[in-house]
Amino acid sequence: MVHRMETIGLRSSSPGTARSLSLHRIGASGGRPKAYLQAGLHANEIPGLLILHHLLDALLRADRDGRVAGEVLLVPYANPIGLAETVLGNPMGRHRSSTPPAASRGMTCRAASVQRFRSRKPASA
Ligand SMILES: [Zn+2]
Repeated sequence: MVHRMETIGLRSSSPGTARSLSLHRIGASGGRPKAYLQAGLHANEIPGLLILHHLLDALLRADRDGRVAGEVLLVPYANPIGLAETVLGNPMGRHRSSTPPAASRGMTCRAASVQRFRSRKPASA
């Protein structure tokens, strides 16, 4: 039964400010199997935040009862920068309004490469 919370500092956007991520580790440190869950990478997608909030409580109860096999890593708010971006009280969430669009946009589609990799014949011994 171990719950550890780590605070991971993020680069500051301006002097005198600080942001961080909270990483919860539940279960045996380094235990297997290991699961990693995060919510709010796109910070305007609120349901995941709510789910991990309640899942953390459930995992802590399960861990107290010795029912967590391995280790669970949980980051309930993966994008505190996006979470702070609001316009008229509405979360914008995906990127800072002062910078180009989120890095998760405009990515090259790798579906064809993945398909070619999957259809490779295994090397004969
Ligand atoms: Zn998303």
